[in-house]
Amino acid sequence: MTSIIDPHTHSTASDGTDSPADLVRAAAVAGVTVIGLTDHESADGWEAAGAMAASLGLGFVPGIELSTKLHGASIHMLGYLVDPDNIDLAAEMGRVRDARLIRARQMIEALAVDYDISLDDVNAQIAEGATVGRPHIADALVAKGIVADRTAAFRELLHPRSRYYVTTFAPTPHEVVGLIRNAGGVPVLAHPGRAVLSGRLTDAVIAELVDAGLGGLEVWHRENSRDMQEHLRQLADKHGLFVTGASDFHGTGKPNRLGENTTPVESLQEIVRQGHGSKAVLP
Ligand code: AMP
Ligand code: FE
Ligand code: FE
Ligand code: ZN
Repeated sequence: MTSIIDPHTHSTASDGTDSPADLVRAAAVAGVTVIGLTDHESADGWEAAGAMAASLGLGFVPGIELSTKLHGASIHMLGYLVDPDNIDLAAEMGRVRDARLIRARQMIEALAVDYDISLDDVNAQIAEGATVGRPHIADALVAKGIVADRTAAFRELLHPRSRYYVTTFAPTPHEVVGLIRNAGGVPVLAHPGRAVLSGRLTDAVIAELVDAGLGGLEVWHRENSRDMQEHLRQLADKHGLFVTGASDFHGTGKPNRLGENTTPVESLQEIVRQGHGSKAVLP
């Protein structure tokens, strides 16, 4: 049987709209045979997702997605098979999550000057214990009838050049690669296209990240253009990195469909070979 491997998705443990169990059910319906859950700064969905995957006969790859910043540019790093209880990793995730809360309050305060929106409205959109992000503010703006959907909320009010935008703390990608490796995990640069185009994620920086322990590049992702995918594939070749692809599914919060991009089985095998902080279950 051929494997359909989609290892990068988000549940209500962060900014996705499906519960971890519902997400795995939807993955099965979409024909995915190995699903990865990579919530922002959270492993809270692993247990429920893993249990549902086991009951449906799907493979499961536990992961996280960590926000990093380099010279002001946002760079996301996937961490597969980390030990989420590793002290240093857990502390850093805690710092980023705490900062996200303060930042969300600041953005809501700024928005409240011009729009009828409050902290309570946003809290109503966040599952207990979830990592908070702009998508939750977007959901409150939608619920209040201020914008039509998340896409419009980001386009009109929440993008980085908006007057309502507030930056938030994130460690450097170099630090995060080290944290993930030290927690037994495998670091993979998520949707690197935009950061490469911004001029911040240069070939030299990628070489530094490889020295720090980077394992792979997420090549097949809807935010990477065809030309970018070719460029990333060549970079991966040059540096001996494996290549992945995934949907980055966020439920109804984004148009991304489960299984729209997938990872070669050889790359999944490489993740399993390199990672030892937690266990993947293969079908
Ligand atoms: P934050 O983590 O608060 O900086 O928000 C970034 C998150 O917002 C990303 O992880 C995406 O899931 C989501 N996001 C970014 N742009 C959009 C968009 N145009 N539509 C829907 N979600 C988006
Ligand atoms: Fe997200
Ligand atoms: Fe991301
Ligand atoms: Zn993501």
